Amino acid sequence: MPFNTTQLQALPTPSYVYDRALLDSTLAAIKAETHDNTSCHVHYAIKANDNPEVLSAIAREGFGADCVSGGEIRAAIEANFPASEIAFAGVGKADWEIRLALNLGIGMFNVESREELAVISELATDTGTIAHISLRINPDVEASTHAHITTGCAENKFGIAHKDMITTIRQAQSLPNIDFVGLHFHIGSQLLDMSDFESLCLRINELQELLEGEGIEVRNINVGGGLGVSYDDPDGHPIANFAAYFETFRRHLKLRQGQQLHFELGRAIVAQMGSLLTRVLYVKHTAVKDFVILDAGMTELIRPALYGALHKIENVTASERKETEDKVMYDVVGPICESSDVFAYDYPLPRTCRGDLMLIRSAGAYGQTMASTYNHRPLPQAFIL
Ligand SMILES: *Cc1c(COP(=O)(O)O)cnc(C)c1O
Repeated sequence: MPFNTTQLQALPTPSYVYDRALLDSTLAAIKAETHDNTSCHVHYAIKANDNPEVLSAIAREGFGADCVSGGEIRAAIEANFPASEIAFAGVGKADWEIRLALNLGIGMFNVESREELAVISELATDTGTIAHISLRINPDVEASTHAHITTGCAENKFGIAHKDMITTIRQAQSLPNIDFVGLHFHIGSQLLDMSDFESLCLRINELQELLEGEGIEVRNINVGGGLGVSYDDPDGHPIANFAAYFETFRRHLKLRQGQQLHFELGRAIVAQMGSLLTRVLYVKHTAVKDFVILDAGMTELIRPALYGALHKIENVTASERKETEDKVMYDVVGPICESSDVFAYDYPLPRTCRGDLMLIRSAGAYGQTMASTYNHRPLPQAFIL
């Protein structure tokens, strides 16, 4: 447990608590793996956690930003990310978002269709600006993760099929106010098997050979994000395996002279620094099960309901009581009127009582940013400790 219990007891629930020291050491670990390579750019994917203080801390360490909406671009600028280090991704960019990005002079658009390319060219011509664009290519690589978070196989809505790559690049090169800078990929999220990234590298190498044959110059290769974290053992693995991750690209990706390599990491940077702090409202005993009913639910943390994710759950108060009895199996659930509002089935916890303070761990990524006001609940606050 990374926090001081007395400090936690004073906080309202449900709320998010972020461990600033862990964020800093995570950022330091990434810099240690990349500092000797000036052609390597790490963009933080803001959708994972857009807390202003978290964003400022990441910007201050010299990272770029990966944004998927106009709102995120604004948040990035407010947190002092340099516009030139902002990448703007997403299958559906609205005209106002494209205009905002053009006026701010962001580093690159990650373009997902020929239709979008034509609109960006039109709006750039309109505003007298140049759009630097990378094409998001669907590498048709199957990643081993939950079906809702794989993005790189042929039937996903994301990206441009690689058989259409050359014609789309030719289109980009022929359009006014478009500067074609390179290729973008993103194969999925919560990937722990480095062979998925290796497959991506091999596919990129093939595509690069094809482009070379066509005499097409590529300045940037953007490999997206997706590095996973340990949801089972956040204390054993507080920092993601950045060493193995960056080594995979060093080993397998054949960059050309002068090419810049871009990464877009979200989850791996912020997941482990965050926990959802919640209190037990009731322990409900039934003939078949015992339920721990929390004051936090899928409105605060939707990942279990949405992806079947299992987060480690800790009873902070019971650890204080120094419970020595055997663990009890509980279904740990939220108060929301949905059957999917369950954090864990048959989960072993020390004997738990009304009022106990609990932590749902590894909730720093896709936690607070996915919170909703369903059931007219207020959005959770965050505290940086
Ligand atoms: C969501 C997203 C990321 C970040 O993914 P993580 O799994 O959080 O690292 C990076 N790039 C793109 C295009 C994304 O959509």
